[in-house]
Amino acid sequence: MKKILQDLSFSELENLILSVGEKKFRAKQVYDGLTLGKKISQINIPAALREKLLENFEDEPIKIIRTLTSADGTEKYLFSLADGNVIEGVFMKYKYGNTQCVSTQVGCRMGCKFCASTLGGLVRNLTSGEILSQILTVNALHGGNLKTRAVTNIVLMGSGEPLDNYGNTFAFLKNVTAPDGLNISARNISLSTCGIVPAIYRLADGGIPVNLTISLHQTTDEGRARTMPIAKKYGIAEILKACGYYFEKTGRRYIFEYSLIDGENCDAQHADELIALLKGKPCHVNLIRLNEVKERDLKTVTDKQAYRFLGLLEKGGLSATLRRSMGNDIAGACGQLRTGYLKGEDI
Ligand code: SAH
Repeated sequence: MKKILQDLSFSELENLILSVGEKKFRAKQVYDGLTLGKKISQINIPAALREKLLENFEDEPIKIIRTLTSADGTEKYLFSLADGNVIEGVFMKYKYGNTQCVSTQVGCRMGCKFCASTLGGLVRNLTSGEILSQILTVNALHGGNLKTRAVTNIVLMGSGEPLDNYGNTFAFLKNVTAPDGLNISARNISLSTCGIVPAIYRLADGGIPVNLTISLHQTTDEGRARTMPIAKKYGIAEILKACGYYFEKTGRRYIFEYSLIDGENCDAQHADELIALLKGKPCHVNLIRLNEVKERDLKTVTDKQAYRFLGLLEKGGLSATLRRSMGNDIAGACGQLRTGYLKGEDI
């Protein structure tokens, strides 16, 4: 695989352009072209420069090879990478803007039992430019340009564990928030992690105050370890401490994702335990009904169970919401589309 031009920040691109003997202003032309989601071969620059770039860099690091559209307007994409790997992403339309969910790795090695992304393990990390290109491609697809973005919000909740690919994920955050690029505000970006504690501290000190989201899904370390192997390494107490530090450094309220799994984590006792853990903390709990993955035997909950659990949390003084499931009819859950594709299923 050649290198990925979208990995570079604007100043790195300027240095590259100067180093090949071109005028500095060409960097802006190239950068704007890439930000508009163009292939290198489509950018209006002198042929000699284009050839030089194409010698070393992938023309199109990411290509949409399949699009599924849900009845609720959600779009799910299967992207192919330059080396033939596939990843997936989701575009969701809300009243306040459009959110894109991006992948940070091909596969995942965290092994969460409810998640389809981890079924085949980790294949490789995505580069920052491959993460960014998911946004650039989809933004262009929906008519976004340098003035008006079609993608206004980003969630790092696709395949992969963003903090297991820290360097590339952080470079992506820098580039996607850069004023000369898409310039998406850190406030409009949510990073979801299964709880890699040292990397939470690193992110807190990184200077890009994105919304931190923790996949909690349980109230005790033992219970958590049943579905999330990472729980054996980092306990809930350590995670909460790291979240406290994140709040101190960024002033941002943190969020807990809690996927409701029947018979596993949503009895009255779990509600009490969750309230005891989180009451008074500057946080919000996002409940999601488990999106059943057919390779796993975990079962989701009824609406009634979900609202009952939500009611208990609210009564206990927690700020909580039940997330509307989107794109259920198009394999909306993490990794389901890619898994089906790799198995040769008709999707
Ligand atoms: N690795 C990161 C981000 C990817 S998953 C993380 O663990 O947070 C994004 C969110 O979807 C996480 O909260 C994850 O636990 C949840 N998730 C994964 N598979 C799911 C499923 N089948 N149903 C409901 N939520 C799921």
